[in-house]
Amino acid sequence: MTNPRAPDVLHIPVLGEILRWRRGRLLFQIPLFLILMLIIYDGFTGPQFAPENTATVLAWVHYRGLVILLLLLAGNFFCMSCPFTLPRTIARRLSLHGGRWPAKLRNKWISVFSLFAIFWLYEWLDLWASPLLTAWVAVAYLLLSFALEAWFAESAFCKYVCPLGAFNFTFSMLSPLQITERSQQVCRDCRGKECVNGDQRVLGCGTELFVPTVQSNMDCVFCLDCARACPYDNVALQIRSPLKEARTRLAAPGYALAFLILSLIFTGVMSAFGMVPPVYRLQAWLAEALLIRSEAALLLLMFGAGNLLLPAVTLFLIGWINKPPGRSLLQSARSEASQFVPALLPLGAGIWLAHYGFHLATSGLAIVPVFQSFLLDHHITLLGDRPRWDLSMLLPLDWIFPLQVAVILAGTFASFASLALSGLENNHTPMQALRRILPWAVLLVLLAVAALSVFNLPMEMRGTLQIGNP
Ligand code: SF4
Ligand code: SF4
Repeated sequence: MTNPRAPDVLHIPVLGEILRWRRGRLLFQIPLFLILMLIIYDGFTGPQFAPENTATVLAWVHYRGLVILLLLLAGNFFCMSCPFTLPRTIARRLSLHGGRWPAKLRNKWISVFSLFAIFWLYEWLDLWASPLLTAWVAVAYLLLSFALEAWFAESAFCKYVCPLGAFNFTFSMLSPLQITERSQQVCRDCRGKECVNGDQRVLGCGTELFVPTVQSNMDCVFCLDCARACPYDNVALQIRSPLKEARTRLAAPGYALAFLILSLIFTGVMSAFGMVPPVYRLQAWLAEALLIRSEAALLLLMFGAGNLLLPAVTLFLIGWINKPPGRSLLQSARSEASQFVPALLPLGAGIWLAHYGFHLATSGLAIVPVFQSFLLDHHITLLGDRPRWDLSMLLPLDWIFPLQVAVILAGTFASFASLALSGLENNHTPMQALRRILPWAVLLVLLAVAALSVFNLPMEMRGTLQIGNP
């Protein structure tokens, strides 16, 4: 619901006009599409040593670090600029209003497993170390998004399949901007509902969100087609509290969305754990104890346990602890998940920021020599005739761990505050609220301690020739 006092980005002079312009999205998509083409071209044809190739440096250092920063500081502007949607838009225009995405798959379970699959492949195939495989991942993305958009009338790839989208949707729940209507009355009187249905000029909302009912950034790709399509200029991109969704019960029923969020938070810890020395000792111990020789199987076991099984067990354990009389365990776990999992989001964002921020901080400037080298390989001396391989660190090394601690602690406190507010809103007395949120608070502390312990260990630097871990 609109807050008349909150500033609307779409009505800031110049910026608002650019954003609402019919071709406004293209302005953001074209640079990213060119970068995607560079990743594919250099990945296939460039040097196959990861710190010297734009594909690996851009995809695994810059994209990931910048996307989490952008989500927390502004909103889902990566999905807005997503280059994978360009060929998809062509497919969509050719689709002759293709079929509907199957009803049984209209939830986040595919996203849960596609996220797990990409993290598992990343660890197993060391995608960060292979320009060629990175280029293949980009090509697979292009083909899959094109195919799904040609087959289905809605943006099924973004909403139900894309692991990048699942990550972005989840953390955009903490973004300070959200689509909303300017006047409820105008929407009530509106007959065409062009924001979702579209018109001859503009496609309606690809993920089928209806502006007057939008309460969350989940599934919003920030494309602003709704603002372009609305004939009454009644769509706003408003500033809101970043914790608004963290203290609110999930709107979508069922486990899938709550499990996606919870699993992504556990994955944050596991993904960082995958880059510190104890992971290799654990892998060796498991291989010997279980007589497993295949690395793929070992990683599947380790990350399956940490990313999927552990959050599931945790959810049912808390559901059992907080189970009110007369409710089944399943009902209780579902209710707990919908009510309190969003409160864990700030800690999850802190963990991912500490991880991806580490790579950006240690290798952010590496793109300068890598791009110089790319140009020199193509006989272009525009940026000098000798790559500056000494460039890599964006921040001094001794700042990094204190910054990681700071973002994790900030996330933990914001999660505590969200838990307390959510508990107080839904329970009669502070004592009842305290009892209800206690297991979640214990989980928060355990996750924060696990994350801090992992980040306190030497972490592999990626995308740089520089050696030296904090
Ligand atoms: S098209 Fe505009 S006025 Fe109509 S429902 Fe959508 S946002 Fe409201
Ligand atoms: S509500 Fe739909 S059309 Fe509007 S910005 Fe979000 S995804 Fe795009």
